[in-house]
Amino acid sequence: MGLCAYSAAPVVITSIHVAGPTAATVSDLVLPEFRPRMTVNQQRWSGKRMVLLLLSLAIAAPAQISTGSQDLSGIVVADMDRSVQPGDDFYRYANGHWLATAVIPGDRSAVSVFAQLTELSDHRTAALIEDLVKSGASTPVEKRIAGFYQAYMNEVVIEAKGLKPLQPIFSAINDIHDQHGLARALGERLRADEDPLNYTNYHSPNFLALWSAPGFNDPDHYTAYLMQGGIEMPDREYYLQDSPSMRELREKYRTHVISMLKLAGISEPESRAGRIIALEHAIAEKHWTLAEDQEVRKANNRWNRSEFPTKAPGLDWAEFFRATGLSTQTTIMVWQPSAIIGEAALAGSTPLETWKDWLTYHAIEDHADALPKAFAEKHFAFFQSEISGVQEQSPRQQRAIDEVNFFLGDEVGKLYAARYFPPESKARLETMVANIVAAFHKRIDALPWMSATTKAQAHTKLSALYVGIGYPETWKDYSHLEIKADDLFGNELRAESFEYVRAIERLGKPVDRREWCMTPQTVNAVNLPLQNALNFPAAILEPPFFDAQAAEVVNYGAIGSIIGHEVSHTFDSQGSAFDAKGQLRNWWMAEDFRHFDDATASLAKQYDQYRPFPDLALNGKQTLAENIADLGGLAAAYDAYLATLKGAPPPAHGFSGQQQFFLAYAQSRRSKMRDGELRRRVMTDEHSPAEYRTDTVRNLGAWYEAFQVREGQKLYLPPRERVKIW
Ligand SMILES: [Zn+2]
Repeated sequence: MGLCAYSAAPVVITSIHVAGPTAATVSDLVLPEFRPRMTVNQQRWSGKRMVLLLLSLAIAAPAQISTGSQDLSGIVVADMDRSVQPGDDFYRYANGHWLATAVIPGDRSAVSVFAQLTELSDHRTAALIEDLVKSGASTPVEKRIAGFYQAYMNEVVIEAKGLKPLQPIFSAINDIHDQHGLARALGERLRADEDPLNYTNYHSPNFLALWSAPGFNDPDHYTAYLMQGGIEMPDREYYLQDSPSMRELREKYRTHVISMLKLAGISEPESRAGRIIALEHAIAEKHWTLAEDQEVRKANNRWNRSEFPTKAPGLDWAEFFRATGLSTQTTIMVWQPSAIIGEAALAGSTPLETWKDWLTYHAIEDHADALPKAFAEKHFAFFQSEISGVQEQSPRQQRAIDEVNFFLGDEVGKLYAARYFPPESKARLETMVANIVAAFHKRIDALPWMSATTKAQAHTKLSALYVGIGYPETWKDYSHLEIKADDLFGNELRAESFEYVRAIERLGKPVDRREWCMTPQTVNAVNLPLQNALNFPAAILEPPFFDAQAAEVVNYGAIGSIIGHEVSHTFDSQGSAFDAKGQLRNWWMAEDFRHFDDATASLAKQYDQYRPFPDLALNGKQTLAENIADLGGLAAAYDAYLATLKGAPPPAHGFSGQQQFFLAYAQSRRSKMRDGELRRRVMTDEHSPAEYRTDTVRNLGAWYEAFQVREGQKLYLPPRERVKIW
């Protein structure tokens, strides 16, 4: 639902570790305490991260953000295509020249403003890390950062170790002789690598995943949530969808699994691969779809720990909980009950030898980036090239930076914020936030259909909202994490365990509502519904989103609409489910909800009609929360800007003030993506592709006025079909 990050892609990180592979980007990498530790895969697939990956790149100087001459106001006129009528195709009118000329680098699957800002952030982060390495690390923080970097760069050591790092894992798998042993092995691999609300990340290659977060019913205390897991490809659809492209991909996956097993010296790779994939397929069948995962009320299932053996028979739950460290929890939240029941049944019904093969393959795949080059390259070839269309792997140095940034993100972030985010920017953004929140208060008051009771609760929620700008108020302490300059594989395992232990140890303790879930160097923005909080990291508060030199109207159209997007999530289909304290409680009157559902249904229908490919349309339900946020955010940012003028007309700069507002919105949203990646996003991402996000301007009367859009033009909607939610 939405709540998540503003854009899937963007996120920060990149490459990283991800599991092995190649890198992925993660967006979240580093984060805060509770950031989920993603395992590799997740990082790879959670939308957020992906992006970066793509972006990541080398350590060369960042490209210019603007590609053309910039009008005084901040609009890049040279990037437009003024031969297109804005009413026919506003996205190309604003970005046509850029779309025609932008080049997607070979090691990425997309290029966008997010990508360019990510490149800038990566470049800065690389400089910080390299400075530390060069100057000789002296403090424990510096030693950890430099040590992790050096471990990644030391290819001689990595090659010399060969498969040795995997041997203890393989022996432990060999020692599994019964269901008890299987449950222990599955439990020991549990990691805090999913985050359904802040990151909309529902993917873990491990059997299940832990999310340690404020409780749905007890938002004052950290609570354990169990999530579905167990497949390597990004989503159940990759296993189940009956389309030529997915069938072809599944064949390639089979070849890939066989070759990874062969490389690791595993006997009978073909037959084992067949069983491993059949098991993943069976797991995928039990999984909830992305749309179901997002129905947060369906996820509010509190099970007593003692009920698991009867509710979900098949797995030795007592041993599983003992191995995970969850046996002291009286109750555990179960996000997808039927998936957990199905997976537990598979644990009992699938032959033990198949599970051992599955564990073996996952052990190889999930840290392939920390193994000899042959593994990392194969991982990249399938998970990045075949699935996302990335043609070249990022340079090793870049991946090393990503790795450090991912695993030690807060330590790097503290240095980053001090160097790159001036106090004047923080103060100016805080004023914009206050103005946009004020605009939402007014829009709520003006809604003719909302009851006074619901309005009062909405105001309470808005007033209690914590908006973090730039960087967190407290930083994560990594002093108990041991990093060795000659042990990359061990560093990854220890860092994942470190995150997991943090997640476990805080269960039952009071929630810090001001904790961040993103690092300052992340190019993204996020709504944390259980904390009633927003995070706007320093790295997204850069041109063209926020430019201290640009006209105010341009900042409102660009970053203002993003701020509005995140504030809107406070009220959207998920936000309406969480009250001012973050408790899962429907705070709307029933009648208000009916109107809201009607209004949002028409927006879902509008998006169902967009077709990026002849055989693939957007899923208006899957993307609904994000589309609502785009629309509400844009409208509120526009109001907030008008309010700053105090009745004066917006200043013109070649374009009218209104035009600049919408052009800034469209130019800051642009992106160009490879077809495979676009297809993957349409299938798995809650965010609509950039073009259709931009097209939401057609729901606003001010846009029609600004560009004299008239009936007959392609984006024209009669007033009654323009959706207004807030
Ligand atoms: Zn969003």
